[in-house]
Amino acid sequence: MKAVVYQGPFSVSVEEVDKPAIQHPNDVLVKVTSTAICGSDLHMYEGRTAAEPGIVFGHENMGIVEEVGDGVTTLKEGDRVVVPFNVACGFCRNCAEGFTGYCTTVNPGFAGGAYGYVSMGPWQGGQAEYLRVPYADFNCLKLPEGTEHETDFVLLADIFPTGYHGCELAQVRPGESVAVYGAGPVGLMAAYSAMLRGAKQVFVVDRVAERLQKAEEIGATPIDFSQGDPVEQIKDRTDGVGTDKGVDAVGYQATAGGSGEEEPAVVLNSLVGTVRPTGALGVPGLYVPADPGAPDEQAKQGMLLVAIGKLFEKGLRVGTGQCNVKRYNRHLRDMIIEGRAKPSFVVSHELGLDEAADAYDKFDKRVDGYTKVVLHP
Ligand code: ZN
Ligand code: ZN
Repeated sequence: MKAVVYQGPFSVSVEEVDKPAIQHPNDVLVKVTSTAICGSDLHMYEGRTAAEPGIVFGHENMGIVEEVGDGVTTLKEGDRVVVPFNVACGFCRNCAEGFTGYCTTVNPGFAGGAYGYVSMGPWQGGQAEYLRVPYADFNCLKLPEGTEHETDFVLLADIFPTGYHGCELAQVRPGESVAVYGAGPVGLMAAYSAMLRGAKQVFVVDRVAERLQKAEEIGATPIDFSQGDPVEQIKDRTDGVGTDKGVDAVGYQATAGGSGEEEPAVVLNSLVGTVRPTGALGVPGLYVPADPGAPDEQAKQGMLLVAIGKLFEKGLRVGTGQCNVKRYNRHLRDMIIEGRAKPSFVVSHELGLDEAADAYDKFDKRVDGYTKVVLHP
């Protein structure tokens, strides 16, 4: 089968690899119909991780069940499913308590597994014609038959739940104001989710004009951080108070406004400044325990200079960590089916698998409006 294979920094290619097979009675084999490229794929693509050449990328996958293991009870050939990026067993303590992003079964020595991702276990990615899904009864979410809402549903694998998770971590409630840092796909999903949860006002901070424009299109207030301190810009629009809640949808590759240079703690510290005393921050943006590409020695070891004194003084709560997709994907699916949510506004390009190399290049450079790419193998 064809798959997107990592070749080394800034290089992927579509190659012929072995088609996966059922290896355990609880597996299913999915014929992939849609698979999205994620900002976190770029961490590997840019050579900022320990990813070795040969890894097949792709953790945002959906498709049609093609083959079913003998132990699978709720799925059958022909079912249309979306697969959370988390690989989870369903029976370990963390899974049982709803923290499927921290499964201790699927990735020995590390809590949490994912498809096609370095250090997240041996699970081959789905930017390919086929995907093997383990613990399939637990991991597959069934979708209505047909092809309707395809580009909405594929976003249930990661970014729609992850954006929603940012709001859940920040405990966004109806009538509140929210500042979302980052207008990439996850940031836009966080802003959209804040509105679904009834926020009265949502600010979205970025500097890429077309991303800020998307934020404005969904009813958020765009804040261009290249035009001045975003904390001051938001305070000016909130009677000097700041917002009730904040979401960091940027993570460790944050850049400063003036210079455009990487400054890994700048978003966290801006959020500490933006959110009013007693508010809360949700941090679904990725921070890592080691980053060889970081700009200073401490950051290389995952340690950042964060304004903990101000955080404490303001009594801010902080929620962090990757999304437990199964906590949200069913409800969000149903909102899509009922026409209450249409997250596909974020999808900029739908391409064939063969166009993956070019898509990675353009998405990485943020050119030609490449915001969110969905590949159809
Ligand atoms: Zn992703
Ligand atoms: Zn588990």
